[in-house]
Amino acid sequence: MSYTVSKNPYTGKEVKTFKNHTSQEVLDSIDLADKRFYSWRETSFSQRKKLMLSVASELRSNKVNYAETMTLEMGKPIFQAIAEVEKCAWVCEYYAENAEKQLQTEEIETEADKSYVKYEPLGVILAVMPWNYPYWQVFRFAVPALMAGNVAILKHASNVFGCALNIESVFKKAGFPEHCFTTLLVGSDSVEKIIENEKVKAVTLTGSGPAGASVASIAGKNIKKTVLELGGNNALIVLKDCEMDKTLETCVNARFQNAGQSCIAGKRLLIDESIADEFIEKLVDKVKSLKSGDPLDKDTYLGTMAREDLAEEIEMQVNDSIKAGAKLEIGGKRQGAFFEPTILSGVTEDMVVFKEETFGPILSVTTFKTIEEAIDLSNNSKFGLGVSVFTKNTDEIEKLILQFDEGAVFINELVKSDPRLPFGGIKQSGYGRELSSHGIQEFVNRKTVYIYK
Ligand code: NAP
Repeated sequence: MSYTVSKNPYTGKEVKTFKNHTSQEVLDSIDLADKRFYSWRETSFSQRKKLMLSVASELRSNKVNYAETMTLEMGKPIFQAIAEVEKCAWVCEYYAENAEKQLQTEEIETEADKSYVKYEPLGVILAVMPWNYPYWQVFRFAVPALMAGNVAILKHASNVFGCALNIESVFKKAGFPEHCFTTLLVGSDSVEKIIENEKVKAVTLTGSGPAGASVASIAGKNIKKTVLELGGNNALIVLKDCEMDKTLETCVNARFQNAGQSCIAGKRLLIDESIADEFIEKLVDKVKSLKSGDPLDKDTYLGTMAREDLAEEIEMQVNDSIKAGAKLEIGGKRQGAFFEPTILSGVTEDMVVFKEETFGPILSVTTFKTIEEAIDLSNNSKFGLGVSVFTKNTDEIEKLILQFDEGAVFINELVKSDPRLPFGGIKQSGYGRELSSHGIQEFVNRKTVYIYK
């Protein structure tokens, strides 16, 4: 028998011990999910819509309770955790309203009397998910998957099993039939067997590159579809004609919310050298004013990182870059799982904080002289999730969109996910899309039907 312990990163104390599922329990759960699939796929969109709206309502009614589990298990400040639960309710409402038309049968004119494409569900879909947005990452996969008529199995990150069980119980409370959504409490070493199971039809992973490569290769060997949402090293490109105060505010949020533990966080600030000194000075002042402390306190903006080992990793990246010549403008110190919000200036392309993803509250600053140079710096990354550009001359930047090697370009806004817009990356950031009509069409069979009478 094996166990997994959730630990509060702020207090260092145990939150809860969970008994892991045995291999037999995993097999049984997959069998039950597969059986459920054959009845679930027959349900109408209006039945699914009703249930999904009831999930949204359960989330909204008990948002503080759900948020607290997240705060205790991975340290997210409570006001950000509540906002995350509300966003999950939004994605439920969005797909409840839109799934049917997004999967509408498409008539195609041919020589036949009738020919069309039908969008049909695939079956049991496995989701391997990370801890950084422990509800949102799961809901943005599960809601469209279920609305399309699939059933979902979740293997969540090992530090957020309480959140994982909460999600299963939200679907149950909302009235979803048993085994439409199943949480498996297992470690990553169980994933291979789950993917190999013939009843599992596809897999999605949000997480690191190595985990994505491993899951994709197992799925590849078994000819199963994958969607991968991996890391990012987004740039924040600040041009000299930007609206300075608003840009400062947005850059701080882009980098420091959720203690910087976001794939789409703006990690590399690229700034026109003519305004760099003034901008950095104001940025440092803003960062000084960020309130850190107990994440259960509603005024806390910056909590600890999710685990002490993650903070240690960030510490190494910062120290390495300082040794290589970066200037520490503010922060740089670690205490347990807490890492001070940190700004490093004078960062060059060969430094660790430029080349590698920094999954914590670290902003690197590099200057440029021309927009062409800024785009080259931004593209000089193995990742390609998104970029933000700050300027009053939006028309000029719009002409350059093609030149950004990214899944998304946001102008005068931080890169964010939104149920209405496709989300995902290129290069080492992964492939496939979540959210919008693109997301719901990832796990469906586009069945061609051709009829001569
Ligand atoms: P991680 O170590 O890859 O873990 C993510 C999930 O994968 C966890 O459930 C983990 O399980 C599992 N896992 C780890 N290694 C595995 C393997 N070899 N085979 C199968 N499953 C495996 O990532 P993380 O450190 O939790 O999250 C941070 C990373 O995720 C960052 O790179 C971040 O940018 C990325 N991310 C991307 C997005 C996006 O949408 N693009 C969103 C959020 C995060 P255990 O916990 O049991 O090890």
